[in-house]
Amino acid sequence: MSTIHPATDFRSDTVTWPTPTMVEAMATAELGDDVYGEDPTVNELEALAANLLGKEAGLFVTSGTQGNLIAALTHAQRGDEAILGEDAHTFCWEAGGIAVLGGITTRPLPTDSRGRIAIDQIKSAIRVDNPHLPHSQLILLENSSGGNNGAAIEPDYFAAIGTLAHEHHLKVHLDGARLFNAVTALGVEPTDITAHVDSVSVCLSKGLCAPVGSLLVGSEAFIHQARRHRKLLGGGMRQAGGLAAAGIIALKTMSQRLQSDHDNAQALAQGLATIPGIEIDPAVVETNMVFFDLAEGIAISPEALIKALKLEYGLYIGGYGDRRLRAVTHYWIKPPQVERLIAAIGTILRRH
Ligand SMILES: *Cc1c(COP(=O)(O)O)cnc(C)c1O
Repeated sequence: MSTIHPATDFRSDTVTWPTPTMVEAMATAELGDDVYGEDPTVNELEALAANLLGKEAGLFVTSGTQGNLIAALTHAQRGDEAILGEDAHTFCWEAGGIAVLGGITTRPLPTDSRGRIAIDQIKSAIRVDNPHLPHSQLILLENSSGGNNGAAIEPDYFAAIGTLAHEHHLKVHLDGARLFNAVTALGVEPTDITAHVDSVSVCLSKGLCAPVGSLLVGSEAFIHQARRHRKLLGGGMRQAGGLAAAGIIALKTMSQRLQSDHDNAQALAQGLATIPGIEIDPAVVETNMVFFDLAEGIAISPEALIKALKLEYGLYIGGYGDRRLRAVTHYWIKPPQVERLIAAIGTILRRH
């Protein structure tokens, strides 16, 4: 298979390649053995993330999945229960890791169209102390909400849940894989949200363009334990400074340019809305993710549309079951590519 260039690839923001500035920084990064705590570039990245997210300490981990798993293992014991949204990434897309490896049971609750669990539902899901029952220990939240058009959830929601959780001695972890997209869309500081939770994970390897890695942040004591769990899971890395160098640019620079991706996503949504046979409400597109449906009457399947885009135009989008498709914008996608995708989809659908 030939290489897919990210400028043609709307399947996800995970397809991004490192920017030329990142490649240069990676080649010249100062290195050391990070398991000994001696990689200066990793140490700088961890301190930077902790500072940006308003926590005492940070830990560089291999992926968002690993960050969330380490957070759950660190906050909860076997037999504890985690409350989470039924469409949360931690529940649906992480191979059941918290149950498989942590012995942590899950309590999935319904979410609204923007990925929020109602506060009173969380309240009634917190169990009383009774030996028959699992022990409520952890609430897992997500922002932006990937399963809900990338909705950017407001700080107030986290404040309310933080207060409720802490009254009942529960911990709160935020899966902030795309937290910087959320704060960009909301026009708030990351700490306006993260102040209300105990730990946060953020992905460097999505819209922020680093090739690999996520950051987990929390208190000194939490990160001390998390470091043990990262080792347990095989995630201790050695001269990881080459990767961390890209991560520093991701956090400092790339986190500041996401409004362009959101503008491109909005333009894409508005363009798609003009095509007969496409169902989409551009108002639900708050960040960089554009989900849309093929209308019932259209005689082309999502698979056939994906294939035609690939073979005839060299463009890639994602399929999400039934009649649902997804296009995600990112650093490598500029307005002309957005126009090209809209035109290509219009042309293919007119034939059907
Ligand atoms: C991508 C993603 C993750 C997992 O990150 P990986 O680095 O792919 O393991 C977790 N949560 C959300 C919301 C994500 O979008």
